[in-house]
Amino acid sequence: MAFTLPPLPYAFDALEPHIDARTMEIHHDKHHAAYVTNLNNAIAGTDAESSSIEDICKNISKYPMPVRNNGGGHFNHSMFWTIMAPNAGGNPTGALGDALNGAFGSFDEFKKLFANAGATRFGSGWAWLSVSDGKLVVSSTLNQDNPLMDIAEVKGTPILGMDVWEHAYYLHYQNRRPDYMNAFFNVINWDEVAKRFSAI
Ligand code: MN
Repeated sequence: MAFTLPPLPYAFDALEPHIDARTMEIHHDKHHAAYVTNLNNAIAGTDAESSSIEDICKNISKYPMPVRNNGGGHFNHSMFWTIMAPNAGGNPTGALGDALNGAFGSFDEFKKLFANAGATRFGSGWAWLSVSDGKLVVSSTLNQDNPLMDIAEVKGTPILGMDVWEHAYYLHYQNRRPDYMNAFFNVINWDEVAKRFSAI
């Protein structure tokens, strides 16, 4: 198998009460697992089997739609599990905190922009914080697209992604996407986001 499902780095219930255990279990074990299986099926026997998921995303316009949807799904969720953690949230400090203040004026302004990106993404998609040409930018994508993709409206290297598909919140929050997004801020693993930021 070219790609494998990474294990969740904490227990299913570790993000309670913000994100419930059943949602985490289905999201990781069913949804992400299906993206991996379908991606492997879509690239079987092609050169993509020896490519990194990042390189596949960066050249996604050369691939058929099942690779775009499932490859994006695999990249996005692999990142998503790591940028959340128990006992997390709060305000980022250090270089990332300074960069957020510089780019958006304040952390609260960043939060507003990021939440707005998630709230205004119609249907299924993601909100992103990325580094684009050395600057922090907020954007959103539809379905399983992401800013690494050569077809993205706003291209960059994502360092934080928020899944706003209904499968990410519907069991607990039903139609209340804004409540889920507020809760998401309580589980953001800023140490991991800062690590990704400093690696660029
Ligand atoms: Mn998802």
